[in-house]
Amino acid sequence: MTQTQRVDAVVVGAGFAGLYMLHRLRGLGLSVRVLEAGSDVGGTWFWNRYPGARCDVESLEYSYQFDEDLQQEWSWTERYASQPEILDYIRHVAERFDLRRDIRFDTRVTAAHFDATTVEWHIQTDSSAEFSTRWCIMATGCLSVPTWPALEGADSFTGSTFHTGRWPHEGVDFSGQRVGVIGTGSSAIQSIPIIAGQARELYVFQRTPNFSVPARNEPMDPELEARIKAGYADFRARNGQMQSAFGVRHPRCEGSALEASEAERQRQFEHHWQLGGLLFLRAYGDLLVNTEANELAQAFIRDKIRSVVEDPEVAEKLLPDSVVGCKRLCADSGYFETFNQPHVTLVDLRREPIERITPAGIRHAGSEYELDSLVFATGFDAMTGALARIDIRGRDGTTLRERWEDGPRTYLGLQVAGFPNLFTITGPGSPSVLTNMLYSIEQHVDWIAGCVADLSARGLTTIEATGKAEADWVAHVNAMASHTLFTHCNSWYLGANVPGKPRVFMPYLGFPEYVARCNEVRARNYEGFVLS
Ligand code: NAP
Repeated sequence: MTQTQRVDAVVVGAGFAGLYMLHRLRGLGLSVRVLEAGSDVGGTWFWNRYPGARCDVESLEYSYQFDEDLQQEWSWTERYASQPEILDYIRHVAERFDLRRDIRFDTRVTAAHFDATTVEWHIQTDSSAEFSTRWCIMATGCLSVPTWPALEGADSFTGSTFHTGRWPHEGVDFSGQRVGVIGTGSSAIQSIPIIAGQARELYVFQRTPNFSVPARNEPMDPELEARIKAGYADFRARNGQMQSAFGVRHPRCEGSALEASEAERQRQFEHHWQLGGLLFLRAYGDLLVNTEANELAQAFIRDKIRSVVEDPEVAEKLLPDSVVGCKRLCADSGYFETFNQPHVTLVDLRREPIERITPAGIRHAGSEYELDSLVFATGFDAMTGALARIDIRGRDGTTLRERWEDGPRTYLGLQVAGFPNLFTITGPGSPSVLTNMLYSIEQHVDWIAGCVADLSARGLTTIEATGKAEADWVAHVNAMASHTLFTHCNSWYLGANVPGKPRVFMPYLGFPEYVARCNEVRARNYEGFVLS
């Protein structure tokens, strides 16, 4: 039998965003229920358990800053934390702040309908539980809906099939197996070296070669940790202000790659290559805005790939020919080296796509690759996927899916006009995936909690973005992206990896400016919103 529970706030998702939102709303004295489809906390780190899964932002930064004791007491063992360690950390946070008692696991939200008469959201789930609530907060994550390409014969494969974004909790042992991996994005690039270490034969099916920079992960340097922890709050504050795109401790060098001499440029690129991973893109200020500057960086990485991969033909196939950083730059540990192993084969799909999946494996260009296991590292319906899968209906019954038919439209990535009291944490139109997600999550949660507190204190019940504020913001988000090279490739930032998805650049570029704008909106009595 269906039971409807009344709570002040429903939060959808128990990842980093949902947990902190719960903590803050509880602090305001609200009754809160978090609804989570998974069987435990963790969000992206709960699902993405593929071998080698690791964060590409340094662990001393990819962690909450809202509680000084928490950030002092937790110690990371590596420069870049592995998925198991991040999940341990999230579980620790859930225990430490006694969060689990307000989370309902194994509960997928299927619908959220706004009732203008009662000024409440009605939330339906795939279980018998239903909720009515004033505040509905979507903490559904930016990369939480895996995509499976529509390949002919996909269901006919008789071996084992996996998706990196839905990895079995008990792990997978590929020892002695013939394994195929489809995709060469971050998930593939992290998992391939480890799968190669187990498999008897490994076939990598590559449609687009990707840029990747060695992550240079290493054990945590205790001196660095102590130094940062001695002034953690200042460090975080400085970083939040400094970051132009990613919240990392190495600031971007502002000079132009085009103004440096060849020798200087090589030194600068090499220095940032040695820093590792995403930091490579911090070598110059114009790498993501100037095509010529970007080409110099591309050439540098292509030379690195040639110097690592022994077979020149294989090396040639691995060379990316697009804008570096346009798709998220990958950070690897021994990815290109993997192709020097005799049991690893690169299958180039650039001329011909996969013909079909067969009961025995994959058919491509007249050859059949017999496989025991097939790994889809094929990515996500990013930023809008999770929201579009919920039947969300606003004030006049319009669905969010209909509103976003031509691409997502939000005000500040926080709200959608016509959907009062519904917030999206790190929604499209906010910096989100182009920052250290933890900074963006905490900033959004703090803003939303502040807003709820302000309205409650003034006896107000509703906040809703105006259509004009939303339209102006969408135009501004597009304008920011148009000054960069981010629109010069087919990335998931643009929705280009999902057939039929409108091509719209979804994240907002510029974290400090964004934070200032959010603060200003609040200071000006929620400019661009209607309060009632
Ligand atoms: P992704 O970057 O979207 O890569 C998907 C891969 O699958 C691409 O190489 C794509 O090729 C390929 N693909 C898709 N459909 C295909 C088809 N029909 N045939 C052949 N190949 C196909 O997905 P991801 O690797 O899961 O990464 C997504 C994002 O998650 C990353 O960009 C990053 O933001 C995040 N992530 C972060 C980390 C980290 O922190 N280190 C690790 C993993 C993921 P095309 O390029 O040709 O489309």
